Amino acid sequence: MTAIADHHVSHSFDDVPTSHQGLIAWIREVADLTQPDRIHWCDGSDAEWTALTDELVAAGTLVRLDPETKPNSFWARTDPTDVARVEERTFICSVDEADAGPTNNWRDPAEMKAEMTELYRGCMRGRTMYVIPFCMGPVNSPNPMFGVELTDSAYVVASMRIMARMGTHVLEAMGSSADFVPCLHSVGAPLEPGQQDVPWPCNQTKFITQFPEERMIWSYGSGYGGNSLLGKKCYSLRIASVMGRDEGWLAEHMLILKLTSPLGTVRYIAAAFPSACGKTNLAMLEPTIPGWKVETLGDDIAWMRFGDDGRLYALNPEYGLFGVAPGTGWKTNPNAMRTIAKGNSLFTNVALTGDGDIWWEGMTKDAPAHLTDWKGREWTPESDEPAAHPNSRFCTPITQCPIIAPEYDDPRGVPISAILFGGRRATTIPLVTEARDWTHGVFMGATLSSETTAAAAGKVGVIRRDPMAMLPFIGYNGGDYFGHWISLGKDADAEKLPKIFYVNWFRRDEDGGFAWPGFGENGRVLKWVVERLDGTAEATETPIGRVPTPESLDVDGLDLTPQQLELCLRVDPGEWRAEVPDITAWLEKFGDKLPTLLWAELDGLKTRLGIT
Ligand code: GDP
Ligand code: PGA
Ligand code: MN
Ligand code: MN
Repeated sequence: MTAIADHHVSHSFDDVPTSHQGLIAWIREVADLTQPDRIHWCDGSDAEWTALTDELVAAGTLVRLDPETKPNSFWARTDPTDVARVEERTFICSVDEADAGPTNNWRDPAEMKAEMTELYRGCMRGRTMYVIPFCMGPVNSPNPMFGVELTDSAYVVASMRIMARMGTHVLEAMGSSADFVPCLHSVGAPLEPGQQDVPWPCNQTKFITQFPEERMIWSYGSGYGGNSLLGKKCYSLRIASVMGRDEGWLAEHMLILKLTSPLGTVRYIAAAFPSACGKTNLAMLEPTIPGWKVETLGDDIAWMRFGDDGRLYALNPEYGLFGVAPGTGWKTNPNAMRTIAKGNSLFTNVALTGDGDIWWEGMTKDAPAHLTDWKGREWTPESDEPAAHPNSRFCTPITQCPIIAPEYDDPRGVPISAILFGGRRATTIPLVTEARDWTHGVFMGATLSSETTAAAAGKVGVIRRDPMAMLPFIGYNGGDYFGHWISLGKDADAEKLPKIFYVNWFRRDEDGGFAWPGFGENGRVLKWVVERLDGTAEATETPIGRVPTPESLDVDGLDLTPQQLELCLRVDPGEWRAEVPDITAWLEKFGDKLPTLLWAELDGLKTRLGIT
């Protein structure tokens, strides 16, 4: 059935696969507004995946890769203007502006709804509206976290099938009355009758909008992952952080890994780094030091709450990996390479080889002689632009990761022993610093700084404060967020709290290269961290916290001069004094909302640096 542009289509809901009246009513309302030609209820089956990917291939959105090397996998190219999260277009529409705080864009919810409703009116004409029932975290959790995404993008459906538990089993688990987060998404590109579609429909007007009180998400105009897979950033971080504030838990931008020592001692570690600063790599680390083993639980998001035993437990709500492609290779991240080799993956904005495989900068030392670049152009090593977009991504099932920890699916999560904060800083920040206590660790997190990356639209390489790596994801007032962190620590048994550390893999030497080799060698830092937990490693007290003594960090077999090691571990009081005005200005932004304990931490730092 083809809709005539000015003709109002109404859909029948007589034969729908749910008895959830609230869900049906919402879908009816959205269909009335957006006017799709068809409504498809996603079941999450293999047959559905095949039909969708076939359709996307026919539409030119996807190219099927060689089944020998990348079975059941596809290459996608976006519109060149739709390649990353759009922070300028992301809004927290709390009722009270103060609840969005100084770090978020805010609009009055009623005004925003009125404006977006006009954008949504008729926006799905000529397209199918897909209903994606999904669950963040295991469906067998005592409190399953349901969502339903309505989208007019088959690419989003295929990606959601990798990234989240979705389909009929979720709809059944929702029954007739479960709460769910309504997530509305449209690429904002209606088709007139007979109008030829483009491979990547999107709209130059974009809105990524969260309504925290209503636990509701509206996204418009973009098909890019972070803007369109609404279970990920929008639900599991922005909306979930608000739920966590209200219910006493944390939704964080953290990987979760399991570390086993040569003696068989198991520790779980969570780590928060800003986008494109090393989470996926650390989560799948292959340590170079003998006897140490890492297993993966999550690479981007951790939900953390205290268990009955007083320890902090972390759960990965996602089901897939959405990894930065460039820099991923057999030398740097062999486990990611093994994961994608199993197929069933989507690759977006990478380059295509002549034999139907994919390539990106950093996969191999030498580039293939001929490629099709992410813009669809002929590419050779002489070309002056990279073949893959710097924020190109692989999207692949986490269950395919060869080192997935068996407990990744446990609804209770895993008890966290250490939390690492980290960023991308060419200077100033040493390789690893241990916080003195929880409050000092919260101060480290709250003042975390990093150079911006291609993961978000805008200038790359600009240093900014990115508290707990959550700057684009805190769904409420940042000052309240710091207060929430502090109060969780205050109410807990200090002995059972995770110890907090701050890492930086990205310090540069005089030649401009990375001072620390990174990747698999980061296992040496994890070793020092657990030895600190055990009380067996030495540390030097510095004005900013405890840093390894050169002897305490295992650099055995590493090609690192004492001078290089000294640079990695250096705490330069001059560099740190230069940091203080910016930290002060940053904390001042939060006004009365800033916990006074963080001012006390800054005063302590200034005193230790000799600033009066
Ligand atoms: P995420 O977005 O936080 O998950 O970061 P990724 O793990 O995907 O890494 C982002 C980029 O940083 C990729 O290009 C990686 O190759 C690179 N990277 C990751 N870990 C390291 C490291 O230890 N050292 C260096 N120099 N680069 C790294
Ligand atoms: P990342 O995830 O943290 O792995 O880059 C995507 C994002 O944050 O946009
Ligand atoms: Mn992320
Ligand atoms: Mn990642």
